[in-house]
Amino acid sequence: MSEESGSTRLDQLEAQMSADLRRSKAYIDGELKRLVDLLNQVDPIERNRLWDSEVIILLAERQNWTCPGWKTPCGVVIDLNSRDRHVDHYIPVKLGGANETSNLQILCKSCNLKKGAKADIDEVITYLQGRLRNL
Ligand SMILES: [Zn+2]
Repeated sequence: MSEESGSTRLDQLEAQMSADLRRSKAYIDGELKRLVDLLNQVDPIERNRLWDSEVIILLAERQNWTCPGWKTPCGVVIDLNSRDRHVDHYIPVKLGGANETSNLQILCKSCNLKKGAKADIDEVITYLQGRLRNL
């Protein structure tokens, strides 16, 4: 086998694996969405709610008044009066996260924008199993 054909074979394999991984991710995303939709029909989640100042203070105290960041702490001090303080769903609402304080945290604007609706899939599954158990 010449070096050129070996490289081509590797390229084909890589393209095939990439396509398989994309299909697998689309399947998992679809199944997750179906499960979250079903769960939300049985146990609806109030969207876009405003948080009481008591809840915000409880979260801030739990975090020692600093932003826990997305993946790594950023160290920004939480200012209750700042618009850059965002109440974030640790497990995003889109992925089935509800409004209990154990699923909430305060992030600085920068970390919240970085995090978006991302979450660790294992944590999402564990969280959804908990929601199912508590129905
Ligand atoms: Zn931050």
